Amino acid sequence: MTPILSGIAVSPGVAAGPVAVMAPAPSVPEASEPIGAKDEEAAAAKAALEAVAGDLEARGATASGAAADVLRAQAMMARDPVLAAKVVERIEAGVAGPRAVSDALAEFRARLEGLGGYMAERAADLDDLRDRVVAHLLGLPMPGLPVRDFPYVLIASDLAPADAATLDPSRVLAIVTEEGSPTSHTAILARALGVPAVVACRGAGALTDGITVLVDGRAGQVTVAPADVLIEAAMKAEDLRRAAAARASGPGRTADGHPVKLLVNLGTAREADAAAAADSEGVGLLRTELLFLDRAEAPSQAEQREVYRSVFDAFAGREVVVRTLDAGADKPLRFATQSAEPNPALGVRGLRTARRLPELLATQLAALADAAGGSRADVWVMAPMVSTAGEAEAFAAQAHEYGLGMAGVMVEVPAAALRACSLAAVCDFFSLGTNDLAQYAMAADRTLGELADLLDPWQPAVLELVRMAAAAGAAANKPVGVCGESASDPLMALVLTGLGVTSLSMAPVSLPGVRAALARHSLETCVQMAGRALCATDAAQARTAVRALVRDRGAGKRGSA
Ligand code: PEP
Ligand code: MG
Repeated sequence: MTPILSGIAVSPGVAAGPVAVMAPAPSVPEASEPIGAKDEEAAAAKAALEAVAGDLEARGATASGAAADVLRAQAMMARDPVLAAKVVERIEAGVAGPRAVSDALAEFRARLEGLGGYMAERAADLDDLRDRVVAHLLGLPMPGLPVRDFPYVLIASDLAPADAATLDPSRVLAIVTEEGSPTSHTAILARALGVPAVVACRGAGALTDGITVLVDGRAGQVTVAPADVLIEAAMKAEDLRRAAAARASGPGRTADGHPVKLLVNLGTAREADAAAAADSEGVGLLRTELLFLDRAEAPSQAEQREVYRSVFDAFAGREVVVRTLDAGADKPLRFATQSAEPNPALGVRGLRTARRLPELLATQLAALADAAGGSRADVWVMAPMVSTAGEAEAFAAQAHEYGLGMAGVMVEVPAAALRACSLAAVCDFFSLGTNDLAQYAMAADRTLGELADLLDPWQPAVLELVRMAAAAGAAANKPVGVCGESASDPLMALVLTGLGVTSLSMAPVSLPGVRAALARHSLETCVQMAGRALCATDAAQARTAVRALVRDRGAGKRGSA
């Protein structure tokens, strides 16, 4: 029998291909580890540095642009005679090779960081170099994204935002991780790149390089060594599904013409052009912090202006909702995040960062205003992690001072939803961040696949908070969108519409399915669905109740929205 692994479906689509496993970073043995013969240890360390340098150089020769520069710079660093001398010095003092390499590179890292600017930004490259040399010395597989000259299915424990940001969608057919949750950044980036993905997939870690798998990012299943006929059938079914969804086009509307704006989420500037080509009314969430990952210092106003302007130009004539920096917790930025917080998800993140570093927000608003002026996009700005009406008021006032006319807040903290009436009175719009709203309402870490049932946005408690925010927005005549991942689920999109949400923002790949679902149901049906979901006792029951209503209406086939 063909083994099937199950996980959580996070990015729709079907793909089949050979597995490439992403090895984790090796752990460096303690300084007290016993050391072999010193001359042999030193020779092995030098050979490892040279082997890694050769490998990086070879990869640099086939890469292009910034990636090629980084690889060449890393190779030069590995060949630096000063580095080799520092490693040998430590080995002579009785430290084993892997620890000696790690300590010597840590010294280099500290020096680069001390220089600031571009040099400090390269410090993370030294960590990558350390992991590679240590893995070589310990005889472990190379860490980092696998390099293959053929397309593959990436298997990993989880992806860091920086790994995911450098992932090449023309090489990676699908992503399967053992950890992660529907709102972890692996999931968000996979969807953004249109790569099918399954997370929290038990047993994925046992898959080995080269074995063929069939990944179904809609069903959350990974079939190991599938027969060719199975692959063909799955691909054909997916093509038919896509073709059916693509039949609807244009602005989002329910069957009876109630408008629901359909927008896209953007994390990186490189997504902008492809996303602009999708059939959407604009951008509902530009996650600006992802533009500045892996930086030692905040980007200048001029640099930010250029990045924002390129996105605004791509979306000329359409709405673009920009979120100010949401650094911290699952999105740490070296220049904005305090690493010593005991509980980062509850710490100084999002808008709270401006308490410590007000100039960061001021510079960003100035850059946004500058980029918006003269652009043809309709630029809105919003703050993440707002908890009180006072914070909303101060943010909106500051954004208005910079000439940014539409200033809103994300509702992702339960306190903001509970007091939505007060918040709606002092800002121009809401955008519901259901990823964090579920995390904070259910007290469940959004990165833990193990708690996915609690993090489920179908939890009636989460839906109740959405209802409150939407009602407050409606009463104040202010738009209320959803930009969390829940907006990309066609069935949930109907419920959100019924709860009074006025726009839905998602990865471009999810637009056709949501548009088609809206076009099949009236607003009245959506309101009934919302009512049923709110009355359910748990997430599973909410989903089942809404599916049953879809079936009763005879509008969906086999329970699909
Ligand atoms: C959210 O929390 O729902 C959201 C859209 O923001 P992020 O996922 O970037 O925290
Ligand atoms: Mg959030």
